[in-house]
Amino acid sequence: MSEKKLRSEALIYHAKPEPGKIKIIPSKSYSTQRDLALAYSPGVAEPCLEIAKNIDDVYKYTSKGNLVAIISNGTAVLGLGDIGPEASKPVMEGKSLLFKIFADIDGIDIELDTTDVDKFVETVKIIAPTFGGINLEDIKAPEAFEIERRLKEELDIPVMHDDQHGTAIISSAALLNALVVTNKKIEDARIVISGAGAAAVSCTRLYKAFGAKAENIVMCDSKGVIHKSRENLSPEKLEFATERNIETLAEAMKDADVFIGLSIADIVSPKMLKSMAKDPIVFALANPDPEISYELAIKTRKDIIMATGRSDHPNQVNNVLGFPFIFRGALDVRATKINEEMKMAAVVALAELTKQTVPEQVNIAYSETRLTFGKDYIIPKPFDPRLISEIPPAIAKAAMESGVAKEPIKDWAKYREKLLR
Ligand code: NAP
Ligand code: MG
Repeated sequence: MSEKKLRSEALIYHAKPEPGKIKIIPSKSYSTQRDLALAYSPGVAEPCLEIAKNIDDVYKYTSKGNLVAIISNGTAVLGLGDIGPEASKPVMEGKSLLFKIFADIDGIDIELDTTDVDKFVETVKIIAPTFGGINLEDIKAPEAFEIERRLKEELDIPVMHDDQHGTAIISSAALLNALVVTNKKIEDARIVISGAGAAAVSCTRLYKAFGAKAENIVMCDSKGVIHKSRENLSPEKLEFATERNIETLAEAMKDADVFIGLSIADIVSPKMLKSMAKDPIVFALANPDPEISYELAIKTRKDIIMATGRSDHPNQVNNVLGFPFIFRGALDVRATKINEEMKMAAVVALAELTKQTVPEQVNIAYSETRLTFGKDYIIPKPFDPRLISEIPPAIAKAAMESGVAKEPIKDWAKYREKLLR
């Protein structure tokens, strides 16, 4: 589809037949006077009184337990930047649509008109009783770090900033698999990260949790290599600062096994790719245009394993592989958090699923003859029906084992059956 056609189709899609992408539908019958007497006054007083006596009954009598707020202030929307709360609304509605179709979670978009961290945190805390979980979205760094940290500490429902952790989870799964394909060990891998923003910082933390060594990691930002001697480094940048005596991305790339791009388009040259080690793993994830184009990268290195954030090439690092299923598992055991154990369980489950035989319907959905684990298939495809039956149980189990599940699952067979319905 041409760019022009896509633009006009996208606008019509959003405007017609009615504006927007989501709406609310009642989940109980409402056709008789009796129905209405139960749904509202006088019947509605009964669940109110039960909940007033025992606050946990809110999960029994209301939609809280399946309701996630998708909250943004519009300060870092897609690759579009700070476009404001109203302009971010189509993205948040889109996320709601994805929550629903992939995991049957009701997501409500909430756009806040504030860039003030205290006001943001306070507002979310005030509205939290309505929701079973909070998905923070498209909030600029470094504010996003503090907002998420404080809300996690102060709320007893799962809170996740998807731009950080979603990307970290999906790219970790892809990285673990790429290392398997190339027969390399994460402990030995020399890793270059381009970008030091919300996504890069949380990705790198998770790679370390899986065994990547601090001394093998070099992170670059818009000024070049983040070196310990640089002045005025943020705490997040200092965490990944190197002592190696190098200054540029080009120097960092020499002999590297892995390049992770979470920065901007077209900053990696063929020469840099050629200087990397044998079987280089290159995840050029800047959206919509990667750090080096897919075509140029695969032309330059025949031995490359390449992933991007785009759907028009193999190995798309797509957050939709994570957030619907992670929240599904967290909500289903009424987890009070989404913790490291749950994120790591999601990584392992996604990585393992990729290695299993791909169902025929997935091949058909993607017009592929036979997707098999390897260079061009290191991460599952979003329309894989196994995601809903495999990922939430892994999250739920990790929540239970790490002691954050308030409603542990007792019958796993029954739970899986319910997920498939
Ligand atoms: P962010 O918080 O704004 O961070 C952007 C980072 O890129 C900053 O650290 C910035 O450096 C750095 N940067 C800018 N120019 C650079 C250059 N020439 N060389 C190296 N680094 C440079 O944004 P984010 O949310 O982390 O996202 C970053 C990129 O990743 C975006 O393109 C986004 O679309 C993409 N992304 C993709 C996925 C996906 O594929 N699933 C998921 C998340 C994000 P300074 O710190 O010096 O300003
Ligand atoms: Mg986002």
